[in-house]
Amino acid sequence: MKLIWKEMLLAAMMGLVLPGAMLGIAATVETPETIIEITTGVPTEATQAPIEKRSITVPILAGGQVVQMELDEYLTGVVLGEMPASFEEEALKAQAVVARTYTMRAQHRGGRHDAAAVCTDSTCCQSYISPSDYLAAGGTQNSVDRIRNAVLATSGQVLTYEGDLIEATYFSCSGGVTEDAAAVWGADYPYLKSVSSPGEEKAAHYTDTVVFTASQFESALGRDLSGTPSGWFGVTTYTTGGGVATMEIGGEVYQGTDLRTMLGLRSTAFMVSADLNSVTITTKGFGHRVGMSQYGADAMAVLGSTYAQILAHYYQGTSLTTLEN
Ligand SMILES: [Zn+2]
Repeated sequence: MKLIWKEMLLAAMMGLVLPGAMLGIAATVETPETIIEITTGVPTEATQAPIEKRSITVPILAGGQVVQMELDEYLTGVVLGEMPASFEEEALKAQAVVARTYTMRAQHRGGRHDAAAVCTDSTCCQSYISPSDYLAAGGTQNSVDRIRNAVLATSGQVLTYEGDLIEATYFSCSGGVTEDAAAVWGADYPYLKSVSSPGEEKAAHYTDTVVFTASQFESALGRDLSGTPSGWFGVTTYTTGGGVATMEIGGEVYQGTDLRTMLGLRSTAFMVSADLNSVTITTKGFGHRVGMSQYGADAMAVLGSTYAQILAHYYQGTSLTTLEN
């Protein structure tokens, strides 16, 4: 069981949370039955007031069925799945707000599912593990309590930009700097810009190195390249977030995001070195690197930042706002 839990945690920490509504924004129609209203323009400081627990239910696709779940109970399972309970309390709170925002935006604007706001698949929407499954897999009650407290301490709180729920993307580790949304998805969001993200070095995938033989590399690209690897690589351009924007290989120009997929890289922030027989690629960070870095959030919390400060750093120009029932 312990091993299964570790594998689940690893999957959850893949940092692969994708912007569910992002790809469908143009075609998305606002749902007519708005169940909540959003108060706008509340300054960050206002959130220091005591938080009342909100009663909101959301339809969640779990195990092939749509179930109505109380929002904060669902979010407890999301944070259990998405972030180690050993992370700082303020990082857990930041994660809770981001997961709540992601969920409510999907609920309002239409996410990837017809009858549900979100699903429990980490590769599609957000990871989720129920407290009972977490305990059965070897997790402790103390961890569950710690995470539930972080969710309840931020109950009802979401991030907005100009009155709208933001596209609250997040990921595991940036490698030191986050990425512009436009560089990864082509859509520009004023609050999803590249920012510094120091202190992530303890992350398992802060840097990774992968070595391809010449033929493995050619096979990943789906083409034969002439000469030896040392002569394959031409001009590389970079994004503001330090990712590869484009890279010339064998006379063709590839997008960094496409290379990440083709080569199975942990991020688009990578460097290549090549010799006569092989290609060595070193990546920084893990995930799409857009929005909040989970390891960066923890590093900020260690240094004394509050969850509001963490959120204001990773989603610049946004407001911490309270949902109205
Ligand atoms: Zn989903």
